[in-house]
Amino acid sequence: MWSMRTVWILGDQLHEEHPALARADRRQDRVLFIESRQSSEEVRYHQIRLVLIFSAMRHRAAALRKEGWKVDYVELADDFTGALRAHVQSHQPSALLMQEPSQYAFRQRLPHLARELGIPIQTLPTNQFLLAEAEFRDWAGDHPHLRMENHYRRMRLKLDILIERNGQPTGGAWNYDADNRQTANAFARSRLRVPVRAQATPDALTQKVIATVQGEFPTHPGNAADFWLPVTRTGAVAWLRDFITHRLEHFGPWEDMMLAGEPTLFHSVLTPLLNIGLLTPRECVDAAVAAFHDGGAPLASVEGFVRQIIGWREFVNGVYWHRMPGYEELNALAARRPLPPWIYTGETEMNCLREVIGQVVRTGYNHHIQRLMVLGNFFLLGGFSPAAVLRWYLEMYVDAHDWVMAANVIGMVLHADGGYMATKPYAAGAGYIHKMSNYCAGCRYRPEARTGPDACPFNYLYWNFYATHEKRFATNARVGMMLKTWNKKTASEKVQVRREATAFLDALTA
Ligand SMILES: Cc1cc2nc3c(=O)[nH]c(=O)nc-3n(C[C@H](O)[C@H](O)[C@H](O)COP(=O)(O)OP(=O)(O)OC[C@H]3O[C@@H](n4cnc5c(N)ncnc54)[C@H](O)[C@@H]3O)c2cc1C
Ligand code: SF4
Repeated sequence: MWSMRTVWILGDQLHEEHPALARADRRQDRVLFIESRQSSEEVRYHQIRLVLIFSAMRHRAAALRKEGWKVDYVELADDFTGALRAHVQSHQPSALLMQEPSQYAFRQRLPHLARELGIPIQTLPTNQFLLAEAEFRDWAGDHPHLRMENHYRRMRLKLDILIERNGQPTGGAWNYDADNRQTANAFARSRLRVPVRAQATPDALTQKVIATVQGEFPTHPGNAADFWLPVTRTGAVAWLRDFITHRLEHFGPWEDMMLAGEPTLFHSVLTPLLNIGLLTPRECVDAAVAAFHDGGAPLASVEGFVRQIIGWREFVNGVYWHRMPGYEELNALAARRPLPPWIYTGETEMNCLREVIGQVVRTGYNHHIQRLMVLGNFFLLGGFSPAAVLRWYLEMYVDAHDWVMAANVIGMVLHADGGYMATKPYAAGAGYIHKMSNYCAGCRYRPEARTGPDACPFNYLYWNFYATHEKRFATNARVGMMLKTWNKKTASEKVQVRREATAFLDALTA
């Protein structure tokens, strides 16, 4: 028999297989949850994110009590340290048991915290990912560039997902991206309807949290009253089932499409739940693969979804732990521009940005292409400061966490890591948004106009971006065509592009 220990469970570690709980004894150890005002204010997190985490923590605490655990729950403490000190004083645990935090800075602080509290903190590796950080590190080594596709194929083989007996991918191809780029016009011509948007109804406990968040964090983006997500394991499982039954079939072909007023389309909206442990990546992948085998969804959709989870999700987590510290501060393109004030409200004449920002303010959610090819494209082409952009994304999204934002923002969106995880910048003119969405129809700008008062700003910003970074990309074969096209433009056209881009960007923060 050992003396009493405390299992400290963090707000993004609500899974049933928590490794510290597995080591504890419910007859004698205690479980501790702390809501920290300081961590909720370090970044001005979206109100819907705060409701999600606090409500899911409170529901998890209630479930553990029902299972016979002794649970201490501290609502809105000033900070973790004060609440921990009070807990240690009253209960005198011999040690704190934890799963490793998912945030680099938090992990670094633990030895200091242990000294302050005067008790050891024992951490156990996370089991919320399918690939251990050390294994990713061994694979990544000191390669100057990493390719997600290579990581993804290894993961398919390692986990034996959609792999035939002869070791070949099911269907004969590793990836069906070419089938998965259907446009907004193609959707309008199809007989398909946008599925009913998934929506959970808040129970009494969540209603109470909504009122608290509205009262305590009134200046944070969004409105807690618009809360729409599940907060329990049971609700999360039903949410996953709803996706598999109603949206997975068409997920692949339409995953890049954007429609005004339709936030979720055929997307899963699983990240808010996956990232805090209400679902596991393995069960999401297994459910999708089972739907393929049962004939409920075609291979292109299922493979596309599997790639997002075992490919991208594991890859960005791997990059974060491999490249921290320092990765979040990279700024290879020397981008310095501050964000325009309307980036928090969407009050701009650029209709795509107005739609996408309006949506994230209301829901805390945008799907991937909205994050990458509308907002991200704007941030990249505008030369906005990576630190400011990173903070903005962290503030606005219900599924925001350091580990997932760093590589997506610094690497994928801003190319601020010098191409470590993307061979070329995700830069595009208006043509891409015009093709993949119906936003341009409601815009005061014209997507086909390259310069002049009605020209879509994305067009001159695109060429201005390549002109600005011509030297850097001169040896990049994937960008060579673009640079050649730029250099074929007449001198007067070049001057006009540069002048209009500069005037547009200067006006943003004037
Ligand atoms: C600038 C930027 C910011 C992002 N911020 C976040 C974030 O804060 N939190 C977050 O979880 N994801 C983030 N992503 C990745 C991706 O956009 C979201 O995971 C996805 O849009 C969430 O919606 P969904 O659950 O409906 O995903 P779906 O489109 O249904 O995809 C299925 C799953 O794949 C995984 N996935 C797909 N792409 C990525 C990716 N690039 N990185 C990590 N996981 C991925 C997610 O777990 C997601 O649930 C970001 C991407 C970009 C470009
Ligand atoms: S014209 Fe340009 S700014 Fe307007 S919606 Fe289309 S891409 Fe966006």
